[in-house]
Parts: sequence; C-alpha cells; structure tokens
Amino acid sequence: MSEISTPSAEGLEAAAARARARLSFDLDVDVCIIGAGLAGLTVALECARLGASVAVLEGRQLGWNASGHQLGTVMPGFGVPMGDLIARVGLESARELWTLSKEGAEYVRANAREELMPGIALSDGALEVSTVDAGDQLISRLQMLAEDFATEVEGWQVDRVRDQLKTDRYFHGIYFPGAFQLDGRKYLFGLASAARRVGARIFEDTPVVSIDASGIRKRIVTPSARLRAAHIVLAGNVHLGAPARRLSETLLPVWRYAGVTVPLGDRLDGAIAFKGSVIDSDGIDHFRIVEGNRLMWASPETTWAMRPQLFAGAIQRRIRTVFPKLGTVEIAETWGGTIGQTVHGMPQVGQLRKGLWVASGFGRQGLNTSAMAGQLIARSILWGDDRWRLFSPFELVWAGGATGRVAGFIVGLWGRGSAAVSGGLARQRERARAEERLREARIAEANRAAATRSLPRRPQPPGSPRPARPQPRPSEPERQEGEGGQGT
Ligand SMILES: Cc1cc2nc3c(=O)[nH]c(=O)nc-3n(C[C@H](O)[C@H](O)[C@H](O)COP(=O)(O)OP(=O)(O)OC[C@H]3O[C@@H](n4cnc5c(N)ncnc54)[C@H](O)[C@@H]3O)c2cc1C
Repeated sequence: MSEISTPSAEGLEAAAARARARLSFDLDVDVCIIGAGLAGLTVALECARLGASVAVLEGRQLGWNASGHQLGTVMPGFGVPMGDLIARVGLESARELWTLSKEGAEYVRANAREELMPGIALSDGALEVSTVDAGDQLISRLQMLAEDFATEVEGWQVDRVRDQLKTDRYFHGIYFPGAFQLDGRKYLFGLASAARRVGARIFEDTPVVSIDASGIRKRIVTPSARLRAAHIVLAGNVHLGAPARRLSETLLPVWRYAGVTVPLGDRLDGAIAFKGSVIDSDGIDHFRIVEGNRLMWASPETTWAMRPQLFAGAIQRRIRTVFPKLGTVEIAETWGGTIGQTVHGMPQVGQLRKGLWVASGFGRQGLNTSAMAGQLIARSILWGDDRWRLFSPFELVWAGGATGRVAGFIVGLWGRGSAAVSGGLARQRERARAEERLREARIAEANRAAATRSLPRRPQPPGSPRPARPQPRPSEPERQEGEGGQGT
C-alpha cells in the first residue's frame, strides 16, 4: 500500500466511513460550523479547545473536495503578490497580515506532530523558482521578505537552482527554510480527530439547506434536523449554495488537478535533487518528490468540473516539458478539487453580521491561511480578539457568476500563455547571451591568433606584393593621394 495518502488510499477512508454519522436529531450549540474542510475543522478544533460546544455539519464526506486533495505544502503568505497587498492596505497592515499567515503555518506545524498525527511525514524547505531571468526583482523581493516581513529566506542564483532542478526552465529561486510539507490528507483527518477529541461533533452527509441568522439564537436547517446556535461559521467554500447564495457568488470556482507518478527508481536522481516543494513564480506548476522516488505534481486548472483522469496526459506532458531528462513518466493516479478564488485574491475572514462568520476563499494556498482563519475566528468568538478586522479592506466582491467563470477561464489561459511566452523569451535571451559569449570568445581567440601571426614578420622575397596596410581608425585622417590602394 502507498505510504502517502492519495484519494484512493485505503484505511483512512474506511476509518472515516466508520466514524461518519448523519445528524438526525435537533441540537443546541454555541457554535455551528457549515463545512468540514480545512477551514471548518480548524475553527471547530479551536472553538472546542477554548471551551465552546461545537457542531460541524458537512454536506458530503470529510475530505471529498480540495482539503482532501491538496499537496501538503505549507508556506507563509497568501498567494497574492506582496506588492499588491501593500498597495491595497499599506506596509504596516500588510506586515500584520503576513505575520498572521506565518502564525497559521506554525499552527499547522504544531498540530502535525508525529505523536498527534502518526505518519504525517513532515519535512522542511520549499523553493519558489522564477520562470524568467529576473535577478533584480529577486533581490528586492528577498530584501522585502527578510527586512520588512521578518521571514527567513535565501536567494539562490541560477546555477544553484539548476544544480538542484536540472532544467533550463527555471532561473533564480527563493528558498524558504521555514516552509514545510506534510501528508495533506492525513493532516485533514488528523484535524478531525483532534477536534473530536476536544469535544467537537462532526456530522457528515448533513447538508445545510437554510439558515436564519437574524436573532440572537441563530437557526440552521438540515434535511433531517434543526439546530440553534449563538454563532454560525460559513466554511463551505464554493459549495455553500442555498444558505448564503450571495456569498458563494463572491467566489470563482477553479478546479485544480494533480497526479503522482509510479516509482521512478533512480531516473529522478538525474533530474531533481531538491527534496522539498517546488512552486513556480507563475503559480502554475507545483511539485515534490514523495516516497523517495515518485513525483507528485499539480498544474492543470479549469473553471468547469472535469474528470481528473482526463488530465493524466497533461500532467505527463508538463513533467516532460519541464524535465526533458525524465522523458515520459507513467502517472499512477490523478485527482482534483475545487478551490474558491476571490476577485482580490485574499481569503474571506470575518464577521458578516453579529454572530455570522465567514472563513472561505483560500485559493491555492489554503493550509496556512485556513489555519490562521480558524484561530482568528475562534479567538474572536470566545475572547473578543478583533484582529480579523485586518481583512475588512478585502470586501465581498461578486465574482461574476457564469460569465465570471468564462472570463476566469480565459484569463487563466491567457496567464498561462503569457507565462509560457515570457518563460520562452527568457530562455531565448539566455541562449542568445550564451551564443554571444561564444562568439566573443571566438573573436578574441582569432584576434590572439592573428596577433601571434603578425608579430615576427618573415622577410619578404624580392618582387613579392606588399603586405596590406592596417585600416585607419575612424579618428585617423583620410588616406592621402598616392598611398597604396586597396589590396596592395
Ligand atoms: C490539487 C490541489 C492542490 C493543492 N495544494 C495545496 C498545497 O499544497 N498547499 C496549500 O496551502 N493549499 C493547497 N491547495 C488549496 C487548499 O486545498 C484549499 O485552499 C483548501 O482546502 C480550502 O479549504 P476549505 O475548507 O475552504 O474548502 P473545502 O475543502 O472545499 O471544504 C468545504 C466543505 O464545506 C462543505 N459544504 C459546502 N456547503 C455546505 C452546506 N451547505 N452544508 C454542509 N456542508 C457544506 C463541502 O462539502 C466541503 O467539504 C490545493 C488545492 C488543490 C485542489
């Protein structure tokens, strides 16, 4: 059996199925959470730890969507360019937000201890690689991360990146020693177990069909039970639907697909030496080695649901394009999940009205950010901590419905297309520079050879033609009448 938990892995599914229980009786709790993904389960764990009575209502099964299909890479930040963040909220708030995102990552690390989550396979280090030759940008980003955002980072020159990743697709890199990766699926089930241990009740196959959040005691309706709660937390991501339709419409659903190869033996050694997660600066490819010699890779995206199996070929081609040395590798399994992308790229965290909370829109970077949201919301409900207000500038903006999906698809294609073009241009410029260096070296060599030949001039036999005169330099006066003509 596979050591990493992929969606087809046995054991966990079976255990989850045994523990699965549909809510069939009415309940009264302090906090009712809608959705048992990373976000909902973290809110549940934290609220229960702080002493609240908690019920989590999950419409399907634990981990059926994105939270059970992620690659387990935990980085600081939000998946939006830092410049955009600063432009929107200013340097001070951007710093505070960044600190919260780092705390989210550390929260995941603290939960993912081997004794609490056996087999979680935590390992350190992630590398963000640039697909264009932008050394200047790298330096300013490094400075900003280290000085303004107090994040441990190392800048890697092109040679070092290519020593670890044998491809001409990548140029400079930023290494995050404090980032880490774990078995993403085990983390999700570990969160559920931890929440249950501190008293949270998790009900699966229990979709919430409506809510009434107007009173002090809120009402929640499911097909077979009714609940009352002082607080409702909407953590349903893009599938929330009827209970808060307008909120769902502020998210653009994006289906992201991933796969894992069969064991590749020592083929990988010639292509990838780096053991942590690799993410490209365009946010397109994300991969890492698992179980020593298999490659786990996420890349394709659509704005419509498609069968993940259809993307095995696309992932295979992508691996071959980035690492031609690997050639065509066999994909053992594929999977996918829907992420919720907000218009501004930042997650939705906060209080919509008294006692009605939202934790959603975590996009491609949901591990640290959902952990951060879970802590913020629980502490706000139970301790009155109001740091969630840092997210207030990121309003709930309508994502455009079906038209938004079409636009999102086109923008996605355009983004990937322009990333490919700028990557191609960067590689072409690099080749041109290499050719230019070669040409200059050849000229220098020819000049050296010519100088060596011209030094000890052999005596000319009488009657032989005169050697050619050196050409005048532009500053020299024009040749005078009567001097030797061309070729003499
Ligand atoms: C292929 C892939 C790779 C990824 N890799 C990474 C990675 O390496 N690192 C990282 O940080 N992030 C990664 N992500 C992103 C991350 O998985 C998501 O951001 C995160 O899982 C979102 O969690 P969530 O709880 O908001 O949503 P979900 O996982 O979608 O959970 C929401 C739950 O709410 C339930 N629900 C919705 N409406 C209702 C209702 N009305 N009643 C009851 N239940 C309801 C749903 O059934 C669902 O189970 C990846 C995503 C994908 C798809």
